[in-house]
Amino acid sequence: MSQSLGIGMAGAGIGGLAAAVLLAREGHRVTLFDQFEKAGPVGSGLMLQETGLAVLAEMGLRAKVEALGTPILRLHGVSTDTGRAVLDVRYRALRPSLAGLGLQRAALFDVLHEAAMAAGARILKGTRITAANGQTGILVDAGGGAHGPYDLLIDALGVRSPLSSAPKKELTYGALWATLPWPDAGPFDHTALEQRYEAARKMAGVMPSGRMAQGAPDSLTYFWSIRADQYDAFRAAPLIHWKDAARTLWPETDILLSQITDHDQFTFARYRHRTHGPVVEGRLVHIGDAWHAASPQLGQGANMALLDAYGLMKAFHGEADVARALQRFLRLRAFHVRLYQLMTWAFTPVYQSDGAVNPWLRDRFAAPLLRLWPAPPILAGLVAGGFGSPLKRLGLKAAR
Ligand SMILES: Cc1cc2nc3c(=O)[nH]c(=O)nc-3n(C[C@H](O)[C@H](O)[C@H](O)COP(=O)(O)OP(=O)(O)OC[C@H]3O[C@@H](n4cnc5c(N)ncnc54)[C@H](O)[C@@H]3O)c2cc1C
Repeated sequence: MSQSLGIGMAGAGIGGLAAAVLLAREGHRVTLFDQFEKAGPVGSGLMLQETGLAVLAEMGLRAKVEALGTPILRLHGVSTDTGRAVLDVRYRALRPSLAGLGLQRAALFDVLHEAAMAAGARILKGTRITAANGQTGILVDAGGGAHGPYDLLIDALGVRSPLSSAPKKELTYGALWATLPWPDAGPFDHTALEQRYEAARKMAGVMPSGRMAQGAPDSLTYFWSIRADQYDAFRAAPLIHWKDAARTLWPETDILLSQITDHDQFTFARYRHRTHGPVVEGRLVHIGDAWHAASPQLGQGANMALLDAYGLMKAFHGEADVARALQRFLRLRAFHVRLYQLMTWAFTPVYQSDGAVNPWLRDRFAAPLLRLWPAPPILAGLVAGGFGSPLKRLGLKAAR
């Protein structure tokens, strides 16, 4: 049993809640601060990989989460310029039982939130954190209120954390995301995340994303890539303009487009890329997107936040000295984070950019090469989050 620490956790998103569960179960006194008035995330679907699922298994939550998700066996993207598949990742190329899991962000949130409350963590809603002092262990909120001192401060405030460095610039492209009912009669593969691209300027995707409760109807997440500077024009124009473009890119999505009748059905996500340093500042540590934000091109962010949460728990297990534990945390997580930040940065322009060269090379050369051995198992390992052996470093095993 470790010494019981007082922990101030800024942010009750995926990373913050998971860390709260794991640290509270170790006997630490965890207080979460979040700006939301009512507990709940904004956003749409996301994909968990074997990395995130292994952490959830260790937390005893995997079965609950799997019951709310849809197993995804394949990522399949077709270029409308050439009609060829330019993304074809089959998880089974690495291991027959390997799969991703598509689910609604709110469903994952509910499972983690319930577990955090059950573990004894406290949550202070409606509290916007604006500053932290890693020397004194104090968090400051927007009203000037001071919270603490805590033995350990965790910045899990996500991509726009005021406690970590702002990215030099936002990425040019973001995406519109909508959750829709899974159509009974439709051409979509219930076991695949499917995409269509025109160069890297246009991209639409359909991802099976589970259900909000067991027995509830299945959902999908539809996403449409959009330049951030065109978002206002999208909102100002009648939806029919966008629908024409969406239908032209992918005619089969007509069955989905008819369900979109209001701009507000979309959540607009802008993407940022930044790796904050230093990760440890006195007794303050940054985890999740507050440490490493990236576009969701490789779909790793939530999984990385879960790995960070587990790494923190592991680092503090049996270690009473906060500084030593935080150095141990860095040793457990820094390599994997650096590796995936680099790969996501390299992949993003291939699928979302105005450039012509990357998508041209992708369509003509990369696509056929990626089908040749040993590319299929390598790609499956990349998407599953396994490069850099993050599970082994944490003493975790893929569940099956
Ligand atoms: C559109 C989209 C699709 C994605 N798809 C995937 C995917 O398929 N797979 C995947 O693994 N990842 C995906 N991601 C990335 C993933 O969502 C993030 O990496 C993950 O949520 C990071 O977790 P976090 O705990 O660091 O931050 P978050 O989950 O963002 O949590 C941050 C929390 O901090 C709170 N907060 C923020 N600022 C303050 C403040 N000042 N004071 C108090 N509270 C505050 C917020 O309310 C929130 O609850 C996607 C991201 C986006 C935007």
